[in-house]
Amino acid sequence: MRKLKEKEVKIIQYLMLVVLFGVAFVLPAYGVRVQMKESAGLNAQGNTGAQMQDNAGTQGSMRMQGTGENAGMGGKGKAGEGSGADAAGKGTIVIDAGHGGFDSGMVGGSGITEKVLNLVYAKKLEALLTEAGYRVVQTRDTEEGLYDADESHKKAQDMQRRCAVIEQEQPLLAVSIHQNSYPQDASVCGPQVFYYEHSAEGEQLAKCIQTCMNEQLEIARPRVQKGNASYYILKRSASTTVIVECGFLTNPAEEAKLQEEVYQDKLVKAVCDGVLQYLNDADSQVGK
Ligand SMILES: [Zn+2]
Repeated sequence: MRKLKEKEVKIIQYLMLVVLFGVAFVLPAYGVRVQMKESAGLNAQGNTGAQMQDNAGTQGSMRMQGTGENAGMGGKGKAGEGSGADAAGKGTIVIDAGHGGFDSGMVGGSGITEKVLNLVYAKKLEALLTEAGYRVVQTRDTEEGLYDADESHKKAQDMQRRCAVIEQEQPLLAVSIHQNSYPQDASVCGPQVFYYEHSAEGEQLAKCIQTCMNEQLEIARPRVQKGNASYYILKRSASTTVIVECGFLTNPAEEAKLQEEVYQDKLVKAVCDGVLQYLNDADSQVGK
């Protein structure tokens, strides 16, 4: 009898364990399932409008949270893509490498052509301005001009297309890169910036670039930025545009210097600094 009791106690203990396990794990799960079924049923019946709205509300807000997060991620993603485009957020700058194709521009005593040098400088400037956070558009990034092969007025078409790029891009500003010449006097040298003489903005931009070049290149006889009313790209440009004449190919010493990478980098850095200074000044004036 006593043994039986002990067995019974053990069985009861076992049963209690099973029941406890059921209460602890199985019932809650079952209960949730039941609840889910119920609310699904209610929703399906549409009898509990409030609950459906609640559910809808919860789902909605959850979805919105999700979307919000996604949007956040998307936003971050996009910003990431364009740290680049962050860049584009700062605005577009057009760089115009002068000449190209059949039009070599000036040819130095060493045989170096202006069209080749201009492109070298333009690409270096593009790299710096891109690094500074701007979107850069080149009017040409090959040695070809912007004209059609069968065009009879190639130079005119080439110039019109350069201006069309500026018109289309509506950049913050445009910088046209050239090399100067003065065959009458080989001693003439030094970089110089030209602006459209009726453009106060152009003059300001030219002044910033000229000052930076004169200082950073340690020009012995510094030139001053100069207004001009006849250069096509200055006259017809839809945006603030300057021409940077990097130096004189008619001066043998300067011609050699213009082909040295160290000097090219220095000059382009000065042009970039001038551009950035102009843009910063413009920004702070807008802020006032
Ligand atoms: Zn030129």
